Amino acid sequence: MTQTPVQDAIRHIPMSSPDITQLEKDAVMQVMDTAYLSIGPKIKEFEASMAAYVGTRHALGVNSGTAGLHLAMITAGIGPGDEVISPSFSFIASTNCILYERGTPVFVDIDPLTGNMDPRAVEAAITPRTKAMIIVHAFGQPADLDPLLEIARKHNLYVIEDSCESIGSTYKGRMTGTFGDAAMFAFYPNKQMTTGEGGMIVTDRDDWAELFNSLRNQGRDVFNAWLQHTRLGYNYRLDELSAALGLAQLSRIEELITRRARVAEWYNERIDELPGIHKPHIVDTTTRMSWFVYVIRCEEGETSRDDLLSYLEKRGVASRPYFTPIHLQPFYRERFGCKEGDLPETEKAGRNFLALPFSSVMTEDMVDYVCEQLRTYKKLRA
Ligand SMILES: *Cc1c(COP(=O)(O)O)cnc(C)c1O
Repeated sequence: MTQTPVQDAIRHIPMSSPDITQLEKDAVMQVMDTAYLSIGPKIKEFEASMAAYVGTRHALGVNSGTAGLHLAMITAGIGPGDEVISPSFSFIASTNCILYERGTPVFVDIDPLTGNMDPRAVEAAITPRTKAMIIVHAFGQPADLDPLLEIARKHNLYVIEDSCESIGSTYKGRMTGTFGDAAMFAFYPNKQMTTGEGGMIVTDRDDWAELFNSLRNQGRDVFNAWLQHTRLGYNYRLDELSAALGLAQLSRIEELITRRARVAEWYNERIDELPGIHKPHIVDTTTRMSWFVYVIRCEEGETSRDDLLSYLEKRGVASRPYFTPIHLQPFYRERFGCKEGDLPETEKAGRNFLALPFSSVMTEDMVDYVCEQLRTYKKLRA
């Protein structure tokens, strides 16, 4: 007779939670008492703090990470016929931005352990039409930048770092976001720091910064040349309330990143003991990991990711396949003829990777509960 493990009461563990203190609440309320709800002093302050934190000459607030990616494609001059190398194993915005400018995404496969672009696959994907590469630092872990930048130099490509998941992480001691022509961070509520919706472009290039500044504000040449629309622009501005919230969060960024690292460590210790489930793989070049999500790898043939997901759901634990490959999304299949088999490692990761509940406000007790469910699941299916 098989024994059913004893199960404790069901708790509800959400996928993510923002980390908001009185500091953030006061910062937003103070803006409410001013005449500036947009284009005021807070955005300037937030940008200066962000540039200082990352270590770039310029930082420009925008209203999402996606907006930042779009503006980088415009600034890099991407247009019809231009190929842009990017991973399919990413959040869909990192490829959609290429399509906004009618460029052609060229997907490359990943390192199966980290989920980051495989430099050898990038080299093999270069053609005379390649104009840029978008480097995503998946889950907050820096991609293998040295070989990627070497390829970019050799073929004269623009480099855009999608750092939307990697604020504060370092590669060989240097901050992500400082390696390419431009990089963007994102502040959706599940990120390491949040502004509600929002993003920040960083760059060392004066010419690009000037263009970003214009493009985010309806193509006006500068913020106060009100009726001079020099080029086609957008309303991608970040408002003052969000900027004030961002400033407060940025003042706590070290604390936020450290707390997340501690939660990841609690997970690591417990997951190490589970058969058929692997903790995230951190490579040597990652001198600081900035945890965005905590993603386990289910061993194919040992642990069924989808079965585990539905078991966890029944036990009140949210979890999510992460990422779902972009090239297998319906409209990418239709438009570019992408299909199963194109990117074997990406597809395998798409089948087996699972993001567990993760945030800086998670307690050890919550991590315990999640891992207890994983343990019980493995016993039930043994
Ligand atoms: C979050 C994220 C973005 C941008 O998201 P927004 O919701 O537009 O701020 C872009 N790329 C990646 C990889 C992301 O994780």
